Amino acid sequence: MVKIKKLGINKPLNPSLNCRPFAIVYGHPVADKTRILKENVPGKWYVDDSCTPCHVCLEEAPKLLKYNEDQTYVYFFQQPQTPEELDAAQRALDICPTGSIGNDNE
Ligand code: SF4
Repeated sequence: MVKIKKLGINKPLNPSLNCRPFAIVYGHPVADKTRILKENVPGKWYVDDSCTPCHVCLEEAPKLLKYNEDQTYVYFFQQPQTPEELDAAQRALDICPTGSIGNDNE
């Protein structure tokens, strides 16, 4: 099941139409920490099993993320430590089209 982050805008833009724009109501999908890939190193940041993989996050955080052996998904081989690495991890999360990257693990 894909979890969806709602942005909190629930009123129709045009009340007479009683409809809402899809992108605003449903927003960006978010990662599911119950589906963390086992290869992720322990920590707050992770990739879940919805990774396609499309590769774009690797361009943002090559020092943190890499492919698994048969290149069917990516995972965090290192948790971000420095401010620069945290920025890179956040950019990877923001750019992931499937919402497969999360930062809410314990
Ligand atoms: S951007 Fe998302 S879907 Fe694409 S490879 Fe990275 S984690 Fe996987």
